[in-house]
Amino acid sequence: MNTKQINYSAAYSFADSAVSAVRNPSDIGPDEVIADFFGFRSPEFFEQIEKPQKYTLLHTFIHSVNGFGIQHYLGKVDGEIIISDYGWLLDGAGIPRPVWFTAQEVEDHIDELRDILEAATTTITDAAFQLLFADRTFLFEFGKFIQPFICQLQPGEHPCIASPGVVKRSYFPVWLKNAVFHRDKGRCQLCGCDLTNILVPTETRHIDHMVPLMASGTNDPTNFQLTCESCNTSKGARVHATSHLTYPYW
Ligand SMILES: [Zn+2]
Repeated sequence: MNTKQINYSAAYSFADSAVSAVRNPSDIGPDEVIADFFGFRSPEFFEQIEKPQKYTLLHTFIHSVNGFGIQHYLGKVDGEIIISDYGWLLDGAGIPRPVWFTAQEVEDHIDELRDILEAATTTITDAAFQLLFADRTFLFEFGKFIQPFICQLQPGEHPCIASPGVVKRSYFPVWLKNAVFHRDKGRCQLCGCDLTNILVPTETRHIDHMVPLMASGTNDPTNFQLTCESCNTSKGARVHATSHLTYPYW
C-alpha cells in the first residue's frame, strides 16, 4: 500500500481546470489543439487506450491543461508575477522554494524554474487525478469527450485498433479491479445491488466499460465501473449505460 501526502487546494485548482476544459472544449481551441492535450496518436496515447496504465489519459490531460499555460508564460512575465503566480505551485507540490525564487533573481533562473515547475505540475496532476477518479459522472463525460477522436482511428495505425473506431478488449489488472471496487463502494453502478459478497455471497463482480469499446470507448482506467452479472449481460451493446447513483456517507 503506497501512501501520498496530497495538498488539496492545489489539486482542486488543477482538477477544476480539467473539468472546465472537458465541459467547454471551445475554450481550449480547435480539435487539433484539444487532440494535442492528450497526445492523440502518440505512442503513449496508444499504450493508454490499449490496456490500463497507471498514468492514465486523464493524467496526460490534466497535466497539459495546467502545464501548458505555466510553461508558456515563463520568460514572458516579470519576476514579481512569477513569484505571486507560481509560488503556490511549488508549495502545493511540497517543493522548497529555491533561494533565487525572489522577484529580483528569478528571471536569471528561468531554465531551472521550468524544470522544477514541471516536477510540481506532475505531482499536483496526480493529486488532481485522485480527486477526479472519485467522480464517476465526470469520468463518463471524459470518456465521451475522447470518443470522437477514437472514432477516427483506423486498423493498421496500431495493433490495438480492431476495426474503424474500435479498440480491442484488454484484461483488467488487479490494481484496477481493486480501485474500481473501492471507488464504487462494492455496489453495482447500474442497479445498486451489493457486490461485497458479505450479504449475498453468490453475486459475481464485473468490470464494465462505461463507454463501450464498440462505441469508441477505451481501456483507460477512467472508463470502468463495477457492475453485477445481470446488468453486465443485459447492457450488451447498449451505448452509454451508466447511472449517477451515489451512496452518501449519511
Ligand atoms: Zn446490477
